[in-house]
Amino acid sequence: MSKSTLISELAKAVAQGGVRIIDLTETLRPDYPTISLPPEFSQASPFMQTELSHYDERGPAWYWNNFTVCEHTGTHFDAPIHWVTGKDLPNNSVDTMPCEHFIAPACVIDCTNEVAANPDFLLTQELLEAWEEKHGRVPAGAWVFMRSDWRKVADPENYTNADDNGAHSPGPDANAVNWMIKERDVLGFGTECIGTDAGQAFAFDPPFPCHALMHGAGKYGLQCMTNLDLLPPTGALIVGAPLKLLNGSGSPLRVFAIAPAL
Ligand code: MN
Repeated sequence: MSKSTLISELAKAVAQGGVRIIDLTETLRPDYPTISLPPEFSQASPFMQTELSHYDERGPAWYWNNFTVCEHTGTHFDAPIHWVTGKDLPNNSVDTMPCEHFIAPACVIDCTNEVAANPDFLLTQELLEAWEEKHGRVPAGAWVFMRSDWRKVADPENYTNADDNGAHSPGPDANAVNWMIKERDVLGFGTECIGTDAGQAFAFDPPFPCHALMHGAGKYGLQCMTNLDLLPPTGALIVGAPLKLLNGSGSPLRVFAIAPAL
């Protein structure tokens, strides 16, 4: 197949339903929960919208808004510069990362049963290798997505599932993160939870391994996604391009999958 045929065939498949487009994005809205840090640290802004005009005296023929949001609110992308371990890497911010990284295949690890039984569930190398036994090797440059169906697990009023001991949500352990980086050279790690690290990861060694190790290796994060239950274990192509924010450490984004038709 010629290079131009490949693209026109894809366009035809999108238009005619030969592939499914699956939105993995939550609506950015004022009540969308933000991560909350200990009080001595600066806090993330929620999404806030201010109406400028609505076909009225402020602008008779047009409707538009200003908005304010943290780089890390809602369904969003983490760039290597987000963590101190990635601060000196080349092309480490959302405005300088290679455009080729906006499109990549996904390996979706279904952890729903484990997370339903234990919200502090940790994804391990052994579980990733067991997934590979069934679905094949995680290819270099692929996203690894941990499917948890988190919306069905977490109380919507307590999205981080926090108690007096901090947040309780699943994530990979440090060994699994190292394996994904060194043994599989993944593009990054994605989740439906509020962060790529488990809720208790402040106490891990190293703390927040999915941030510290992934970003230190120039890898990315995606979090607060939805609809991972609609993805096949392999075979979906993820399109996720963060906003081109100057020196941006991350960005809300529209992320979606192109998946084979059912
Ligand atoms: Mn983030």
